[in-house]
Amino acid sequence: MQSELSIVWIYPDLLSTYGDQGNVLVLEQRARARGIQTRTVHVRSSDPVPQQGDIYLIGGGEDRPQILGAERLRRDGGLHAAIQRGAALLAVCAGYQIMGTVFGGEEGQPVPGIGLLDISSGRGERRAVGELAAEVDPALGLPTLTGFENHMGVTRLGPGVRPLSRTLTGIGNGDGTEGCYAGRVIGTYLHGPALARNPALADLLLSWVTGPLPPIEDSWYQALRDERLRAVLPS
Ligand code: GLN
Repeated sequence: MQSELSIVWIYPDLLSTYGDQGNVLVLEQRARARGIQTRTVHVRSSDPVPQQGDIYLIGGGEDRPQILGAERLRRDGGLHAAIQRGAALLAVCAGYQIMGTVFGGEEGQPVPGIGLLDISSGRGERRAVGELAAEVDPALGLPTLTGFENHMGVTRLGPGVRPLSRTLTGIGNGDGTEGCYAGRVIGTYLHGPALARNPALADLLLSWVTGPLPPIEDSWYQALRDERLRAVLPS
């Protein structure tokens, strides 16, 4: 890694609902707490996606901006190039669906995704909205995921990805799993923002780029997690 960690926030003008930009702030804060300098690039949808970033983030959004975002990302090609060089990516909700081969448009019509993840999404019977808690794939060694979801989409995972987690409450992908990952790409339906409620997920993304990280003072994050998990899980 260079001396500075480069974070790329993709299309804030199209895809950044429910505080998803907080994911950028959490990565910056947790990197700096370990003495790692960061530089964040906000890439508007009219601009090219830089290929030399370390960690890429993309958020959720309404159906039409999601379709527009998918078209522009496909035409641009910068994110593909970055992932091929080994960059990490966290894609949330609409951003998650875009990473697949196909997703459902505003009338449920199939819209091509950009094919970075082996998933396909369509529209479900009813909107999935509310708190979600899920147990993470033990291979990743992370504590219970907490967040909230608000989406119509349901997502089918292909053999090229692994489920990120299994739901304890909430809908997620729609089949008892939530999100998925492959290599250094993570997709999730979780807002909240996801990294503020799951700092271990932020550290996983950081450590893929920086190597092992020392623990930091986490009591504020922990208080938020405790409160949110207590609200939905039986004690
Ligand atoms: N438009 C997508 C859906 O409803 C994504 C929504 C979101 O990003 N919150 O499934």
